[in-house]
Amino acid sequence: RAKENGRNDYQIYTSDFEHKALHKLTLHHEMMNALQNGEFLLYYQPQYDLATGRIVGLEALVRWKHPVRGLVPPGEFIPAAEESGIIVPLGEWVLQEACRQNKEWQDAGMPPIPVSVNLSVRQFTQRNLIGKIAGALERSGLEPRYLKLEITESMTMDVERALSFLQELKELGVGISIDDFGTGYSSFHYLRNFPIGSLKIDRSFVRDIGDNPNNAAIVAAIIAMAHNLQLQVIAEGVETLEQVRFLQQHGCDEMQGYYGSPPLPCAGVASLMEAVRNRAALDINAASSS
Ligand code: C2E
Ligand code: MG
Ligand code: MG
Ligand code: MG
Repeated sequence: RAKENGRNDYQIYTSDFEHKALHKLTLHHEMMNALQNGEFLLYYQPQYDLATGRIVGLEALVRWKHPVRGLVPPGEFIPAAEESGIIVPLGEWVLQEACRQNKEWQDAGMPPIPVSVNLSVRQFTQRNLIGKIAGALERSGLEPRYLKLEITESMTMDVERALSFLQELKELGVGISIDDFGTGYSSFHYLRNFPIGSLKIDRSFVRDIGDNPNNAAIVAAIIAMAHNLQLQVIAEGVETLEQVRFLQQHGCDEMQGYYGSPPLPCAGVASLMEAVRNRAALDINAASSS
């Protein structure tokens, strides 16, 4: 009986392993085709100024419009795209498309705001990344100050590479944010010495500001530290007014999250921006509501 069970376990394990390997290969193939067939698209999530409630930026977030599976979120294909290397051409497409779209919005009369693009580790280690970024700006005609790149803490570990990359970006005039701040390798060294513009507090800290005093302390400390280092701070994953109030009280500059808006397809961005033209998009004035 026990032996039988063991054998069954082994068989399950084997077939699961084979299944995974096959799945990876299929996914790799599918993603290559998807890129050629134009199945990827970008959603954009608004970022709000916490003092005025105005929309001051947009983060580009990739989606896969799969012919069978429907709209696939990045969590389900970015890790595989990283592993297989497809993230490099995919990331270049994202960069180009975000610049093109932002320029198109500006040309259509939308008030100009920066678009943020996520960079993957794999892209970061490409030698000609700066050239690719400069190329995307040039082809789209977007001014460099309307592009921001989001990198993660892990990319700052190769200090020399990161420093020269960031300096070149700064010379180009492109903004830099550290994404998911607090979840990775954080070094006060890079915070002090790297030419970065802002920190994005990871949503795991923001989530339970209300009932976890440790997370509240961490968020308050990140905001204070960032400001002392002349960095902007943006909180991600903001879902409640309670979180908004806490962030305002601690002087956080901006927020992004479902409380403001989920990521939107580009038509949704255009109509939202039109609807809130010349006024606050969110009523978060501390005096006006509870
Ligand atoms: P991220 O850069 O930290 O992006 C924020 C993620 O949080 C987005 O998920 C967004 O939809 C989600 N989010 C926003 N507000 C809230 C909220 O209030 N509550 C909760 N629970 N979630 C919220 P999404 O779009 O699924 O993206 C997940 C991750 O995939 C991104 O995390 C980013 O690391 C990666 N990613 C997305 N697009 C790209 C891309 O073009 N290139 C690369 N390299 N990575 C990307
Ligand atoms: Mg991001
Ligand atoms: Mg983030
Ligand atoms: Mg995140």
